Amino acid sequence: APQFGDNFRTFMTWVDEFRDMDVRTNADTPEDALRAREYGALGIGLARTEHMFFGEERIREMRRMIISESEGERRSALENLLPYQREDFIEIFEAMEGLPVTVRLLDPPLHEFLPDEEKEVKTLAKELGISTAELNRKIRLLSEFNPMLGHRGCRLGITYPEITEMQARAILEAAVEVKSRGKEVYPEIMIPLVGTAEEFIHERHVVDEIAEDVFAEKGSEVDYKVGTMIEIPRAALIADKIADEADFFSFGTNDLTQMTFGYSRDDAGKFLEHYLNEGILKNDPFQVLDQEGVGQLVEMGVTKGRAAKSDLKVGICGEHGGDPSSVAFCYNLGLNYVSCSPYRVPIARLAAAQAFLRSGKKVAS
Ligand code: PEP
Ligand code: MG
Repeated sequence: APQFGDNFRTFMTWVDEFRDMDVRTNADTPEDALRAREYGALGIGLARTEHMFFGEERIREMRRMIISESEGERRSALENLLPYQREDFIEIFEAMEGLPVTVRLLDPPLHEFLPDEEKEVKTLAKELGISTAELNRKIRLLSEFNPMLGHRGCRLGITYPEITEMQARAILEAAVEVKSRGKEVYPEIMIPLVGTAEEFIHERHVVDEIAEDVFAEKGSEVDYKVGTMIEIPRAALIADKIADEADFFSFGTNDLTQMTFGYSRDDAGKFLEHYLNEGILKNDPFQVLDQEGVGQLVEMGVTKGRAAKSDLKVGICGEHGGDPSSVAFCYNLGLNYVSCSPYRVPIARLAAAQAFLRSGKKVAS
């Protein structure tokens, strides 16, 4: 990772004089958050929560939650996960010291948390007190032919609202706790993989109800926002309807690219290099935003979203948020921020400043 000396830091403050679009970071640990702030990130644009469940004690409860076919059991496992999640968010909010933090609710298909090796299945079955055959049956039930188009994102939160409830509670209890320590905190809760306004409304309702409960229990409130990823082409097409309900949009251009091209994020490697060599593609569309096609959906999402809500906050958190030509494209569409991995924050700051200069806008004096 690059180390910054004082000269570089000074240079970057000069750059920032010519930048009017924020650069945030994608970070899901306090370490990454601190590193990104060191590089000048002005918030977290995407804290993915899936990795937070892989710690040794947590994965056990997570697996118990997934395997269970009774809501009561799922709720009891989630109750055990709540303190871990709350601590995760307290640490991240503390690290960001009052800068906005967008936390995305659980996204991946649940079977990703389950083992597929026979030996591990045996151990887990023992741990859960069920037979190996029973666990294998459960794993088969959860497995999908096309997991990326399957039971993930808000679809999980809608079929199992108790997951959304637990995460919303952890985020908001953490925020109230940090506020009680006399610090500012701006949580933004983000719903993944939304394709219909009804999905968003469902999830927002769950979050708002939990917020009401938490604030009443604690006798203290925090400002929070509820917004959505725009990462399914349909979400861009109906962005006005979603914007009526959402406080912010964040373009998930990884999935948007996958679903617009119909190239699997996991398997495109099999032909991408050949396509690049043959000139069928100029760039890897998962690295450099395809302005001709995917970019049209981003533009439509911004235009329709802001037509419905003129002050809608809009950002991007796909890989493209750290690619200079994609950053310029986002700038020209009027995005409020781009969000990228910590080590790409400096290049995104430079790209944003360059886009400002190229736009011919005047520097505020
Ligand atoms: C995206 O799809 O662009 C995104 C940021 O989410 P993820 O990569 O976690 O699917
Ligand atoms: Mg995504």
